Amino acid sequence: MEEVQKLVADLGEKPYRAKQLWEWLWKKSAHSWEAMSDLPKAFRAQLAERTLLRPLVLAEQQKSTDGTIKCAFKTWDGHVVEGVLIPTPTRLTACISSQIGCSLTCTFCATGKLKRIRNLDAQEIVDQVVLINKLAQEHYQQDLSNIVYMGMGEPLLNYANTMRSAERITAPDGLGMGARRITVSTAGIAKMIRKLADDGARFNLALSLHAATDHKRDRIMPINEENSLLDLKDALRYYTRVTGKEVTFEYILLRGFNDSLADAQELVRYASDVHAKVNLIEYNPIDPTATPGTTGSFQRTANEDAVAFMYFLENKGIVARIRQSRGRDIDAACGQLANKNEPALKEGERVMKG
Ligand code: SAH
Repeated sequence: MEEVQKLVADLGEKPYRAKQLWEWLWKKSAHSWEAMSDLPKAFRAQLAERTLLRPLVLAEQQKSTDGTIKCAFKTWDGHVVEGVLIPTPTRLTACISSQIGCSLTCTFCATGKLKRIRNLDAQEIVDQVVLINKLAQEHYQQDLSNIVYMGMGEPLLNYANTMRSAERITAPDGLGMGARRITVSTAGIAKMIRKLADDGARFNLALSLHAATDHKRDRIMPINEENSLLDLKDALRYYTRVTGKEVTFEYILLRGFNDSLADAQELVRYASDVHAKVNLIEYNPIDPTATPGTTGSFQRTANEDAVAFMYFLENKGIVARIRQSRGRDIDAACGQLANKNEPALKEGERVMKG
């Protein structure tokens, strides 16, 4: 708000214009200066000269048979990021992206096959929420109830914009949503998890765990080499101590890789130390043409095995849920976001540790 107030003062306009401008920018995500109809024409012309408006544009949308809507958003510099509206009987959730592409190369994730092009700025992140909220109103006659930073990119590698966007989403003079309705998901960067605690982050934190031993996690998430499970555990314990908040572990069940009861036992050990609850996630195929044994060739765990895994955790006192995938028929489910317009890395360029 201060930036806007200063801009308004610099241009010699009355202070109340700042509030109007702020609302156009952050509440309504106006796409042009002309759209800001209650601002004087001359003022708008001055704004157009001085500053750049860089809104996201909803370029395409696809609706799944289960009601999930996948959106392709175009950035001012011609890239595409994806966001998803996920309706359930009790919630309307927006899944939003934090980066164009991703620098991590998690082997099970389609976005990991893209190069990281750039960070989204805070406004581009907020724009996704505003535009998906419009769809929520159009299709389901309600506002969004939840927001998850689980689209493309790693939010904690775009830390400042993630924080700034969450502030705007929660600010009473922004979108006014409760921080508890926002979840930021990270592949696990220990230093940044501590920073979240130090900076007083109020949203929920989810960690993409997927394996409870370094040996296994190194093989599917190269980022684990510099952020070992022990480092992450220390950081998470610090986070829960400082914030008083619980964290959630996300754990994709990958058949024959991490879904045995021995794996469940490892997970119990790890999760108990952090007091984390566990979301078991169905694996979504990302490349049906991949040959077995290569990257992208994982298979989903059979339902009865997933249920047995969950009961094992529950019996050992870990709160666990199986999360059903949504929007799989339109490639809108977890890990399937990869826009076809960006250059994919060739298989040989990927780092795969054995
Ligand atoms: N970089 C962040 C946020 C994006 S991923 C993170 O790693 O948490 C959001 C969730 O989707 C993560 O838990 C991720 O592991 C999961 N995911 C990725 N690929 C998937 C796939 N093929 N099937 C199911 N879930 C997947």
